[in-house]
Amino acid sequence: MVEALAELNEMYTTIKSCRLCELAASRTQAVPGVGPLGAEIMFVGEGPGFHEDRQGLPFVGAAGKFLDELLAGAGIRRDQVYITNVVKCRPPGNRDPQPGEIEACRPYLDRQIELIRPRIVVTLGRFSMARYFPNASISRIHGQPKRQGGMIYLPMFHPAAALHQPQWRPIVEQDFKKLPELLAEIRKQDTPPPPPERPQQLSLF
Ligand code: URA
Repeated sequence: MVEALAELNEMYTTIKSCRLCELAASRTQAVPGVGPLGAEIMFVGEGPGFHEDRQGLPFVGAAGKFLDELLAGAGIRRDQVYITNVVKCRPPGNRDPQPGEIEACRPYLDRQIELIRPRIVVTLGRFSMARYFPNASISRIHGQPKRQGGMIYLPMFHPAAALHQPQWRPIVEQDFKKLPELLAEIRKQDTPPPPPERPQQLSLF
């Protein structure tokens, strides 16, 4: 636990001075991710936007406010979850991240998942979905959990997409409401076996 935290902090320092792709040239600052080690749910968005680039934190702009509302609607606190993105630096003008940029950033995300050890990975939008659901269409598979290797992958629309397309809002809200049920499912799996029955105390008298 202590080593994982140290490695995570070291990774944040590396990301903040990373120059593995050209996004480094235009960023104000990199946005590694935020949340506690051992968070049960990890959200993976697309990439930092204007406000994230300024503040160094993920999902702090309009999409972030909506994410907070969605979490609250599902009874989940933001400080319970881990939040990061497929690329850690803002694509200029909020353009889509390019394949080479996603690939360059991939080892960071892979290691974050290994260190945080979430049980549910929620992909927000197409770019993080593509990693776990190659060639899938988000409008077909959103809200449908995939169970694999003791983990649950849950693809969702990006909150920003729902802000731009109000007809998707109730769909996104419904998808988020699946999280408590999925959490209960994984917690049940993790329930340790009941302790062995206490041996009968021999009475001395
Ligand atoms: N959109 C994202 O995908 N990530 C952020 O951090 C903010 C907006």
